[in-house]
Amino acid sequence: MDNKKYAFITEKDFKGLVTGLIKEYKVFGTIKKDGFPAFAGITSFDELELFQSPTHLSAKEFLFPQRETLLKFNIQNKTHEPVIESGEQVIIGMHSCDIHALTLMDRVFAAGTPDPNYLSRRAKTIIIGTECFPDKFCFCKSVGTMTVEEGFDIFLHKLKKGFLVRTGSVKGEEILSRLTKSRPAAFKEIKEVEALQKVKEGSFITTLDAPAEELPGIYEKSDNSPVWDRIGAICYGCGSCNHVCPTCYCFDIKDEVKANLKEGERVRVWDGCMVEDFAKVAGDHNFRGLRANRLKHRFNRKFRYLTGKFDALFCVGCGRCSRTCLVNINIAEITNELIREHNKK
Ligand code: SF4
Ligand code: SF4
Repeated sequence: MDNKKYAFITEKDFKGLVTGLIKEYKVFGTIKKDGFPAFAGITSFDELELFQSPTHLSAKEFLFPQRETLLKFNIQNKTHEPVIESGEQVIIGMHSCDIHALTLMDRVFAAGTPDPNYLSRRAKTIIIGTECFPDKFCFCKSVGTMTVEEGFDIFLHKLKKGFLVRTGSVKGEEILSRLTKSRPAAFKEIKEVEALQKVKEGSFITTLDAPAEELPGIYEKSDNSPVWDRIGAICYGCGSCNHVCPTCYCFDIKDEVKANLKEGERVRVWDGCMVEDFAKVAGDHNFRGLRANRLKHRFNRKFRYLTGKFDALFCVGCGRCSRTCLVNINIAEITNELIREHNKK
């Protein structure tokens, strides 16, 4: 571990921290919903279930809602006013891959014309990350997101007794000192976390068979792979993989006029490149009418196209798309198949 500041807090003091946050902020955290881990608003510490396997949906909806109003307009008066709904909020329980995804979203929404809605919400959000262990779909180790050094305010590592805490921002230090008691971590507590990280590193069932930096080149040479037609034949085009992905950020914009035909709202809603209408244009032409082409496009966005623009892979290895897919299209297995084909050439 690097030389960031480490502190130790007891479980009782962590409860005090969360209780203090709930009094001041809207707090979201990981809970058990119908037996599965999920992010939800919480009003008591006891609802929290931390250190579980990944949630089906990521936490992106708290910063980039599935539907939001961007502006209100009045047709008669020819006026409009922007709508930015953001409030102070805390998200507890984000894993290292999700925090990496968040830093990618930060870059996307700040690039070009900065997005005031996302950026306003992000500036008012406190991130409390938690250590995790991989399930059979996780492959963060292969894409460099198994550990995280930035993008959070506080990060918790569970120890046999209590937590080792890393702070990643002035805000994180401030709430830690104001809302709870902590002490500098002991050497043996840092060693305990390092030992647990070694165990984590050795416990991946899924890994990619090529280094992360080779993946854009491998994808570039895989445009004509038979893989795309094969998985295109079974894919439903449902878009679930887009919706659960913490780095999918595409959206549609719609103007909705009220029944009085005088006022209306401009709303944005999540969109997804796996859905049939995504690339449909006037004249009913569809640039990616075939599901095989949509899959090829989505996978290339994650491992190739956006690396040129943002200098990072846009797959953080959370495994959500594979976990969710009804026909078991597994992004890590497909990538390994492309790697094997590439190595045979
Ligand atoms: S890959 Fe799976 S989740 Fe994604 S659109 Fe196809 S069937 Fe749906
Ligand atoms: S592409 Fe799949 S595995 Fe990669 S970040 Fe998105 S949901 Fe996670």
